This record gives sequence, C-alpha cells and structure tokens, in this order.
Amino acid sequence: MTPPWYRLLPRAATLAMSAWLQLGLPANATAAPGQPPAAADPAAAGSMWDLSELYATPEAWSEALARAQAAATALASYKGTLGGSASAMFTALDGISAVRREWQRLDVYASLKADEDVRVASNQERRQQSQALGTLVAENISWVAPEIIALGADTVHRFLSENALLAQRFDFFLNDTLRGEPHTLGDQAENVMATAGTFLQQPGTVRALLANGELPMPTVTLSGGKKVRLDPPAYDKYRQAANRADRKLVFDAFWGAWSHYQGTLGGLLSAQVMGDSFTARARHFQNSLQAAQFGDNMPAAVYRTLVDETNAALPTLHRYLRLRQRLLGIHGPLRYYDNYPPIVALKPLPVFSVADSKRITLEALQPLGEDYLGLLRRGFAGRWMNVDPHPGKAQGAYMNGSAYDVHPYLLLNHNGDYQSLTTIAHEWGHAVHTLLSNSAQPFDKSGYSTFIAESASIGNEMLLNDYMVEHAGSNAEKLYYLGLGLDEIRGTFFRQVQFAEFELRIHEELEQGHALSGARMSAMYCSLLRKYYGEAEGVMKIDPEYCVEWSYVPHFYLDFYVYQYATSMAGAAYMTDAILKEGAPARDRFLAMLRAGSSEYPYELYKRAGIDMATPAPYRALIARMNRIMDQIEALQPPKPKT
Ligand SMILES: [Zn+2]
Repeated sequence: MTPPWYRLLPRAATLAMSAWLQLGLPANATAAPGQPPAAADPAAAGSMWDLSELYATPEAWSEALARAQAAATALASYKGTLGGSASAMFTALDGISAVRREWQRLDVYASLKADEDVRVASNQERRQQSQALGTLVAENISWVAPEIIALGADTVHRFLSENALLAQRFDFFLNDTLRGEPHTLGDQAENVMATAGTFLQQPGTVRALLANGELPMPTVTLSGGKKVRLDPPAYDKYRQAANRADRKLVFDAFWGAWSHYQGTLGGLLSAQVMGDSFTARARHFQNSLQAAQFGDNMPAAVYRTLVDETNAALPTLHRYLRLRQRLLGIHGPLRYYDNYPPIVALKPLPVFSVADSKRITLEALQPLGEDYLGLLRRGFAGRWMNVDPHPGKAQGAYMNGSAYDVHPYLLLNHNGDYQSLTTIAHEWGHAVHTLLSNSAQPFDKSGYSTFIAESASIGNEMLLNDYMVEHAGSNAEKLYYLGLGLDEIRGTFFRQVQFAEFELRIHEELEQGHALSGARMSAMYCSLLRKYYGEAEGVMKIDPEYCVEWSYVPHFYLDFYVYQYATSMAGAAYMTDAILKEGAPARDRFLAMLRAGSSEYPYELYKRAGIDMATPAPYRALIARMNRIMDQIEALQPPKPKT
C-alpha cells in the first residue's frame, strides 16, 4: 500500500518509470561501466539543461545536503506536538514540508546529474546520498500518521476549522491520513515498516543487476551480414526488422538467453509478490490489489471495468492483427515476432530536428488553447532539456518536475525519428502539467497521480498523431502515421492490460496458497498471450519459447503500476474527443483537472472533468478511435479483390 506520508516522497522516480514504459525500455538500463567519462561537447551546450538553477556547484549541493540531513534529524523533535493546538500542528507540518521541499530539489539535482553520465562514480554516489536522505526523512516522520490517527477525526477537524493556513495546505493530507486509520500500525511497527521498505525493494534491484549487466546478451548475424549484440536497446530496434527471418532470429536468440534464467527470474518475481503480499497483510488489507489501489483511493470497479472492457474489445485487437498480417504480406498465421515492425512502412523515413519537433508540437496542440501554448513556449525557450544522445547518458526519456521552486527538467534521447517527435509532445505534456499544478497549488498539493499524469501526455500524442495524419504530404505518409497511431494503442492499451491481468494472477496465485515458479509464470503468461492474440480464432500462433517475456518487464516490481497506462490512455481518448467536439468547455475541464494537482483523488478529478473511469465509456472511446483509424487505413488501402 501507499502509506499516507509516502505521497510526500518525490514523484521523480514514478515519472521516470512512466517514461521508460512509454518507450518500452527497461528501467535502470545503463551503459557499460568502467569507461572514461566523455568530454563535454561544446556544440551540445544549446541543447543541454542548466542544473546551476538548482545548485550553483556540486559543492553547493553538498552543503545543502548537510543542512537538510540536520534538518531531517531534527524533525523527530516535533513528535508529540501535533495535538497541542491547531497552530502547533501547523508548525510541525510546515517544518516537515520545508525539509521535503529541499530534499526534492536535492534529489532532482542528484538524479539528473547521475543520468548525464552514468559511468561517473561521484555522480552515482551523490544519487545514493540523496536516496539515503529520503530514508532518513521517512524514518524521522514515521510517527506522523499514527499521531494524527491517535488524535482522532474530531480534533483534527476542529483544528482545520480553527486555522485557515492549516486547512489551505494540509486538509487533504490530514483527511487522507485519517482514511488510513484501519491500515496504520502503532508507532513501533510503523518504524519497522519504514526500515523494511529497503529490503522489500531488493528483488527489483537484484533483477536490474542481472537484466542490465550480468545476463549474457547473445550475438546474432542478420540476413545482411550485420552482427548485432542483443542488449535491450538492440532487441528493441531489431525486433522491428522488415525481414521476417531476422525478427525470428532476434526473438529466438533473445528469449533463448532469458529462458536460461527463468528459474532465477521467477524466484525474484515471487519474492517481490511475497513482499507485496506481506505488506498488504501487515496493513490489514484483504489482498495486494486492494492495498495497491488504496493510496489513490481508486475504486476496485475501475480495475474490473478496464479488464472486462478490454476482454470485450479483443475482436478489435484481432481486426488490427489481421490488418497487420495483410499489410505486412504475411501468409499463414501471425507469430509473436510479427508485432513490432511498423504496420505501415515508409521510405525514406521523415526526419525531425529538435526545432522541427518544437514547432510541430506547438501547432498540433493548438486545440489546448493559448494558456497551455504559452507555458509550452516558455519552457521551450529555457534550458530545461538534455536532448541529444551522448556516451554515458541514461537511456530513454522522462520529465522530472519535483523541484517546485525551479522548473521541470526533461531528459530525452532525440534521434530525429517520429518516435522522438512523439516523445517531445509526451514529456512536455508532463512538464506543462507540472507548471499548471505548481502555479495553482501550494507545494503540499502540487504532486499528482500517474492516473492523471499519463492522460495529459498521451492526449498530446493523440493530438500530434491526428495533426500528422491531417497534414501528411501523400497517402503513403498518411498511412504511415495512421499505422503508428494504431500500433501505439496495441502497445499502450492492450499490452498493458494483458500485463495487468498477469500481475493480478500471480498475486492471486500466491495469496491463495499456491507456489509460484518461473516455469509456472511462463505457463500463465502463455495462456494470456493465447487469449489476447486470438490463437483459438486463428489470428496468431503463440510459440511457448517466447512466453518467458514476463521476466523482462521491470514494472512488475512496482506493485500494480501498469494498468494506469491503460486507464490513462482511455481517459486521454475520451478527453481528446471531447475537446475536439466541444472546444473551450471541455478544454477548461481538462486544464482544471491538471491544475488540481493532488488536492483531490484522481478518480474524483476525472469525474469532475466529465469522465467516470468505472464505467465503460472511456474504454469504448479508445476502442472507437482504434476502429476509426482502421477504417481510414482500409479506405486508403482496401484489400485486393480475390482473383
Ligand atoms: Zn509519461
């Protein structure tokens, strides 16, 4: 579960993970260690972020860290003071808030600096120091929730009515903490849980060590004679090969390597699931899912409706797969390795510079209105981005908006393709969301849930895709963008719901007293692939060798995280439809949702914006969008009449 104070932790980590998922890259991927750091490239200065806005020098960071460590330790002195009076409570919470605010700023600097060059040991040590500060803060405020709960709702509500400042900044936090009463333990037990948190993260950490470094990566020779070492980025690239035999070769070699570690990886994921289950039981939840959804106060019906609607929509996925089979010219059933080449190829591929990408993003997001575009222009003009790939830099893309008093920062690896353009629209969706929330909310309510965050960024991707289709220079280009829009729905919606079903099954398996193993997980994964990809319907043949894919997904170590991508995409589809149809009123509802930060629970914020995520409507809006795109493709490229 998410203990009430956990929402006070930096949101950087979560958003970084979201970016990884968006790009389909493994988290924590790093370059080979032991190489010298690259010399700074002066030509890259214009596209390089300026971290001196956070701290002027690394020494200034170290001095601020020492001050924050002392301040964090001193937080324990507020213990026992919350019930003194409304103003005593305000003083304590305000003191905690100030430490958190500085810590988030420290953490932003440490993690961005570490990602500039993952090979520099001093940068990695700084990140560890920042994480240690996070643990220190958590330990020194672990008494807060039990103390608030012991005061009881009557006293807390009386204090809220007596002190306007307390209410303005901490009403949500206080009420949320009271809501956690049945799941909050005594003082001593909370302290133990805070310390146990470090151990409970170990399965994910060990998995990352194995997956990103120690697991031997196979080398294959592609049909053109090129030798390729299949590390995760290379797997990502070459599974898209146009040559079917190459795709099969890449799949066979890559999953062959992973299947050697099926037992170990299964053991690690079992340990993670046991940890989730332990936390859920220790905190008096019925099961892990209920515990995971508690933090966001998400009704169980959202998860159920998502899965039911997705299962009902599988014929639409099968329509997509049959279209893919036809457009790729595949005879006989599809195989799992046929999922990744773009459904529509285009030669030569369009190239987008960073300047092009900014210009196109500004044009494509016109429907979001002048307020939104003004914030985007302001961000584009600043030195907020680390854009170009360079040796040692972290892979993937993310926005880090945790430095409330500075501005969001973005890490990208722009390589000029359409995916890079899409990533700019996506990550800047997070950045503008942060600006909107920070301008409307006090620091204490400026964070936001992934449920809301990904709608803001995926909605931008949809507007961009529609814009590219509309402004395509030829039918071939139009088909290319339609195809990419379609592939994205398979990858972000259907694939994530399939992941979510798997995650639920392994947790239920353990919670019902059954043993889990790597082999058992592969068997469960196979049966889900067969259902989703329509083996019984003759759509795709699933080869069991590829069913070890679950072992590659780092998000299963994040406790029911992935389904939020699917709900967000559905929310984005519904919202985008409404904005394009209604204009200003729908846009205002959307921006109000982004400005609301964490002043309310995400399910409620969606509802205020006109979307009930527990009903079929948003999921059906997304499926309708998918069918609409397929109608357009089929109109441009109808099947050849049988001769
Ligand atoms: Zn994102």
